[in-house]
Amino acid sequence: MLDVADLHSAYGRILALKGITLRVETGEITALVGGNGAGKTTLLRCLSGVQPVKSGRIKFHGDDITAWSAHARVAAGIAQSPEGRQVFGPLTVEDNLRLGAFRRGRAETEAGLDRVYGMFDILKQKRHLQAAGLSGGQQQMLAIGRALMSQPRLLLLDEPSMGLAPLLVDQILAAVVALKAQGVTVLLVEQNAAAALSIADRGYVIETGRIAHAGTGLALLHDPAVREAYLGV
Ligand code: ATP
Repeated sequence: MLDVADLHSAYGRILALKGITLRVETGEITALVGGNGAGKTTLLRCLSGVQPVKSGRIKFHGDDITAWSAHARVAAGIAQSPEGRQVFGPLTVEDNLRLGAFRRGRAETEAGLDRVYGMFDILKQKRHLQAAGLSGGQQQMLAIGRALMSQPRLLLLDEPSMGLAPLLVDQILAAVVALKAQGVTVLLVEQNAAAALSIADRGYVIETGRIAHAGTGLALLHDPAVREAYLGV
């Protein structure tokens, strides 16, 4: 579905991505794990079209989208749930979700709401309340829900477990697995490598702008180098 080849990206003279090559297969969860400042967020920003690419290529369903606008990518089916959630606090939960359905018709929007409420019952219960009043985990669910409202074929999740208690991390991961069961392809970016790799079909470890390890989620979980560096074993 997504094919990234030799991608380079920079902030001024700082090269943040130094030749990233990876694939996301249709129907799978692909995890991208790595430490602080490794380049995870930069890669996601390149994929969603808000960060310039210096060289290399991004293909989505065979189309070269490297030069496409962020809007064109959303229209093509790529949605991102950003790091730090970025929900609109003064708006209600439901209005936040409706914002994710821009350019969708009324029937599609209502169907999208049903789908998100089916997945996250707590959002349904709190749909008329201000998003600012939600807990951290609930705001994360809302951010994922909002991304789902555009009916994406590929969902980019930036550190959904960040700052959450272990029980909530498990809930969010269960939601990601449920999304996969519904046919959504997911690129999951995480510092929490153990959690991400445990639900991933395929994984990549990024270190200072380069892919250092790649394999199935299971193989990476059992790779001694990955275990030592990222799993504290
Ligand atoms: P984190 O988990 O902390 O978000 P990350 O893996 O997502 O880390 P990036 O945020 O992509 O890493 O950062 C990659 C590199 O680019 C780092 O060296 C970082 O300092 C640098 N960088 C990121 N954003 C900027 C910016 N706006 N200006 C300059 N350098 C930046």
